[in-house]
Amino acid sequence: MAYQHQFRRHKTREVRVGNLVVGGDNPIWVQSMTTPDTHDLGATVAQIHRLEEAGCEIARVTVPKPQDAAVLSEIKRRIRIPLICDIHFDYKMALAALDHPVDKIRINPGNIGGYDRYRQVIRKAKAKGMPMRIGVNAGSLERELVEKHGFPCPPAMVESALRYLEIAESEGYHDIIVSLKSSDVLTVVEAYRLYAKQADYPTHIGVTEAGKAPYAVTKSACGLAPILLDGIGDTIRISLLGDPVPEIAAAFDILQATQRRVRKPELIACPTCGRLEIDLEGIVAQLEKRLAGKKTAVKISVLGCVVNGPGEAREADLGIAAGKGKGVIFKRGEIVRHVLEKDMVNALLEEVDQWEKEEADKGTLKTGAAKISAAATAEDQEEPVNGRTKLPLVVG
Ligand code: SF4
Repeated sequence: MAYQHQFRRHKTREVRVGNLVVGGDNPIWVQSMTTPDTHDLGATVAQIHRLEEAGCEIARVTVPKPQDAAVLSEIKRRIRIPLICDIHFDYKMALAALDHPVDKIRINPGNIGGYDRYRQVIRKAKAKGMPMRIGVNAGSLERELVEKHGFPCPPAMVESALRYLEIAESEGYHDIIVSLKSSDVLTVVEAYRLYAKQADYPTHIGVTEAGKAPYAVTKSACGLAPILLDGIGDTIRISLLGDPVPEIAAAFDILQATQRRVRKPELIACPTCGRLEIDLEGIVAQLEKRLAGKKTAVKISVLGCVVNGPGEAREADLGIAAGKGKGVIFKRGEIVRHVLEKDMVNALLEEVDQWEKEEADKGTLKTGAAKISAAATAEDQEEPVNGRTKLPLVVG
């Protein structure tokens, strides 16, 4: 029997955010945050539209002033994805945001002015049926917790989150998502792992203030991959300096690489070397272009020679192992065609279509086209495998 990777997803309760459900067996939703002044309605909405086009599924706007709160209803009216209001320092801005038909508010309880004000926000959110993210940040932890732990370390961050969760629960409020962000990768990983052992509220994950791409993408991947592979994370944001639109592709790539959410074919290509005897870069570029928009979770390997080519091609769903000006195409480990270099792209794409058809006929085609319902089932997750729980590939 083929080896099966084993995963266990952090079991979280479901929290509805607009037309999405966060947590449980639902896909890990990709989120971003706008950069213009929120009260600049035209610029904010235009940026959210660009984010939507890039595949963003939840948009967050900052609400530092009354004029920002004043435009929230209009922003919400003009966009299609759920709208989150991000509040720091002024609990009155949280209360003001709750007067608008937005989909969630995010507060940092450590800087909102004490427990009483926090309770006021909780009570109003509860009355409005509005979910909330408790966004604990290592950089703005309560002083008392920093003194107790000596540093804004993971246990201090988790203690802060649990404290605010308890207060919310004492108010009978449970529509909560938690984040434990830091710009330090090790802190992020430890904080989420520690949290996941102690609470079942869904998590929003990210490495905050990661900086400028491409280093920021690599840093985010380093921080988020261990968490994702532990099954933790229900929404994700990759924080990049500048235009937020590239955050979306980066988030989906991290989800794809960790197999937590696969929405497109996986193209495996060798780095090339002196053994290469075909135009591999050109072939891969053409394949990337012509596979764009396809949502099938199919693994396609394209290797430049016979050293690793046949082995890799056999492990992928489809693959090419090339020789001098020609190659062989493998499907499910078997050679199905011999092709000339000039015909490789067309032939491989024909095989992708055929593979999709065969998988669809068998009822085993995995596609990221569906947004909500294609996630793992609870039944799958509870199936014990060697003392752990299997989490199937999440497509969606
Ligand atoms: S598969 Fe062949 S051409 Fe590609 S890097 Fe390896 S040895 Fe070089």
